[in-house]
Amino acid sequence: MKIYIDGRYYGRADARVSVFDHGFLYGDGIFEGIRVYHGKVFKLREHIDRLYQSAKALLLKIPMDSEAMERAVLDTVQLNRKKNGYIRLIVTRGEGLLGIEPSSCKKPSVIIIVSDIQLYPEEYYKKGIAIITSSSRRIPPDCLDPRIKSLNYLNNIMAKLEARQAGCLEAVILNKDGFVAECTGDNIFIVKEEGLLTPAPYHGALDGITRQTVIELAETLGIKTQETSLTRYDLYNADESFMTGTGAEIIPVIKIDGREISGGLPGVVTKKLIKSFQKSVMN
Ligand code: PMP
Repeated sequence: MKIYIDGRYYGRADARVSVFDHGFLYGDGIFEGIRVYHGKVFKLREHIDRLYQSAKALLLKIPMDSEAMERAVLDTVQLNRKKNGYIRLIVTRGEGLLGIEPSSCKKPSVIIIVSDIQLYPEEYYKKGIAIITSSSRRIPPDCLDPRIKSLNYLNNIMAKLEARQAGCLEAVILNKDGFVAECTGDNIFIVKEEGLLTPAPYHGALDGITRQTVIELAETLGIKTQETSLTRYDLYNADESFMTGTGAEIIPVIKIDGREISGGLPGVVTKKLIKSFQKSVMN
């Protein structure tokens, strides 16, 4: 395994960052999770654009332009000879003083890891997954915009811990007004008579690239999508539900807080979208 750090490649054991890096000390940094399918990096431009937008919101000056970043990602994938895998692209504020002051960090660090990921065991993609609602609410967008894909995931981790305590693999997180935001590392959709319904970023959701892909695929299948406010009641009474994410891809949800969805089996629309997604990543 060859890991890119600031323009050089290191083996797994030698790939290290400083304990004075504010990414480590304060979660001051951003990242992207990207898939490689059949030797092609999926939606690379979209991921790079989101990375630079996250950086801009945090006044984090990435020490290379987006074309050079794209090349660095592609070179690292090629060097690792990965035909199918997962890329973790990280930009940290860099090494600085022990205080929070970002200006003490003189140069942000860029790290690219090419490896594998499996967010949920394979069997759940066929039989669907049971989730709970987390009691930890989403950090409001006016405190931290959910579109910033930052290195600070404690809000999500609290929800994930709660899911595990409840014997589930995943949790849905509500915003402070009680509307559905997203899951710990995935966006959530429900299927109703009118089509797909999903929360908007202003409800506290990351503007997911898989989410956008699914919306586009749905449209080609003649299924409309609406960004809307959803409550737990809406989830419980959904015809179908599924989650989306780069790592998770599309995974059916068949139980929420003990309420069975689509008879406890993956729904027809969900299965259609999974098929269509699988086809789209082949191109
Ligand atoms: N929400 C959160 C909190 C995430 O971390 C992710 C990515 N893992 C997603 C949604 C899905 O986004 P994407 O489809 O761009 O991977």
